[in-house]
This record gives sequence, C-alpha cells and structure tokens, in this order.
Amino acid sequence: MIGPAWDAGVHDAPLFLSRTTDPGSSRKAAVALTESGRASDQRSVVYGALREHPGCTSAELAEAMGVDRFMVARRLPDLRRLEQAVNGPERTCNVNHTRAITWYAAEDVVTCGNCAEPTHGAGGTCHHCKRDLAASRRDAAAHAEEAHETVT
Ligand SMILES: [Zn+2]
Repeated sequence: MIGPAWDAGVHDAPLFLSRTTDPGSSRKAAVALTESGRASDQRSVVYGALREHPGCTSAELAEAMGVDRFMVARRLPDLRRLEQAVNGPERTCNVNHTRAITWYAAEDVVTCGNCAEPTHGAGGTCHHCKRDLAASRRDAAAHAEEAHETVT
C-alpha cells in the first residue's frame, strides 16, 4: 500500500538534512574544489594542503590532493599575493619532471639559524646546512674511529 503524499515528504526530510549537515571535512573539501566552488574556498583548501605537504611544486601538491593541477596552479599565486604562501627553491618536479618552483605556507617558514636563508620545518636549519652538519658529523665519527685504531 502506498502511503499518503506527506509521508514521502517526511522520508525525504532526514535524507535532505543528512546531506546538508554532513560534517565530513573531506566532503566539504570536495565541494570547495569543484569548478563552481568559490576561489576563496579553493584557496583555503590549497593552503591546508600546503601546510601538510611543505616544499611541494604545484603539480606535486595537486597530485597529493587528488585534484586538478590547474586549479592549484591558479590558487598558489593568489596565496602568495595574500602573503600566505612563499616560494622555496626551484627543483625538478616529481610529477612534471621539469624545473618548477616549490611552495611553502608563509607561517611555516623560519630563518635558518646557521645561514639566515628562509627555510622550513624542524630545527630551523636549511637543507644545505643540514647536509653540511651531517657531513661534519661523519667526519668527526671517522676521526674518532681513526683515533680508536691508533690507540689499540
Ligand atoms: Zn642554512
């Protein structure tokens, strides 16, 4: 037996509510990233991804996000203009295999304590200085080894 017309309305209502109140952030992000999404929504999603994937090229970031790389390539310069993103050094992109500029969220950028270059992340030491530091540690270990050998 088919119920009265209002019954259909009652059944539709919870469905409608669950759609519009879905708190899933991934769903919100997906909506924001559609072409119809507002540029400001796209920017905030790109910004969040940039904080999770510092030092990416725009194509790498798009791949990490699983979205259109042209959208990301448009939004990153927006963020730079708004002083929310900055460029890191240029390197070969792992997606396009061409030279490309890298990107960082501005708030994640610190100054290298060793050479004062802008850098990102742990310990505030840039990758050049980290490499030099690792090399000097290896040298020190090698010298210690030599010293040990001469003693025995
Ligand atoms: Zn440095």
